[in-house]
Amino acid sequence: MSEVENVVIVGSGPAGYTAALYASRANLKPLLVEGDLDPEHHVDLPGGQLMITTDVENYPGFPEGIKGPELMERMRAQAERFGARVETGWVDRVDFSARPFRVWVGDREIAARAVIVATGAAANWIGIPSETELRKTGYVSACATCDGALPHFRNRHVAVVGGGDSAIEEATFLTKFASRVSIVHRRDQLRASKIMQERARQNPKISFVWNSQVVEVLDVAKKKVTGLRLKDALNGSTHVFECDGLFVAIGHTPNTAAFQGRLDLDEKGYIRVRRGSCTSVEGVFAGGDCVDHVYRQAITAAGMGCMAAIDAERWLEANAH
Ligand code: NAP
Repeated sequence: MSEVENVVIVGSGPAGYTAALYASRANLKPLLVEGDLDPEHHVDLPGGQLMITTDVENYPGFPEGIKGPELMERMRAQAERFGARVETGWVDRVDFSARPFRVWVGDREIAARAVIVATGAAANWIGIPSETELRKTGYVSACATCDGALPHFRNRHVAVVGGGDSAIEEATFLTKFASRVSIVHRRDQLRASKIMQERARQNPKISFVWNSQVVEVLDVAKKKVTGLRLKDALNGSTHVFECDGLFVAIGHTPNTAAFQGRLDLDEKGYIRVRRGSCTSVEGVFAGGDCVDHVYRQAITAAGMGCMAAIDAERWLEANAH
């Protein structure tokens, strides 16, 4: 085992990078472990969910907007400028039962005086077998930015499932490539913010399919999407809705599997914190989307990363041996 790190930060979204920035400026020389590239590229990218976002228009300080990946590159560069080190890999196991804490990246064991968990959240899937099957073909995706420009979606009719900001954002982005985009929602009201809704309603390529639940993605036998079997939420009847691709945008689940049984999690798997960023284990702090299922914004995640670094710094100072 190598020497004991002051702070290991797990996760490389806005929370992780901001924690790294603050911890490095506090001279703690933090080690940040960023996720590896997910082969299915819908979740867990180094840089987090902003790597699969197009324009970020609500991050203060960028009046013209900024691309998600560029914002993440800038955050990383800023943290590295002050001495943060970034290592690529998956933290798949931790031991918080004794100090120093231990964190494993595959076979590599890292000892740490303090840990900051900033592992974010990942896209949800509908959970039907045909969706799982057709994801393998590339016709079903949870990332328009990653896959929207693929030839089999160009000048085609694609469906987006969901009624939140993500669904609207995905649909709007897809209109750059698709000839037509249908937002399929299980209710008759969107959850998305008014400004996003307005943008979608004004886009001539976007239309809405209300009160509809996807019960099957067609056609597994043909190894491509030819349509959706939709169930009418009002009368229970089903019918086939023709389309050439499916994007799923129905919310997220926190990336906290490695911390199950190690930290106190809520029923959905979000890490419970108190007094800012303190987890159930003294010396382990958490921030960002792995904690927060309410605000889930880049700016709030960054703020929580900052809080976690300040909490860690103060705790380390008070507990210096
Ligand atoms: P969300 O707000 O939780 O919306 C999820 C949507 O998916 C809801 O409309 C929900 O329907 C639907 N849904 C959930 N499970 C479903 C299922 N099994 N089958 C069919 N539909 C299902 O999630 P989100 O859109 O990912 O947004 C998350 C957060 O990020 C929000 O706070 C949002 O404001 C923010 N965000 C902001 C931007 C932006 O400002 N540019 C972009 C993306 C996300 P119900 O409405 O019926 O519950």
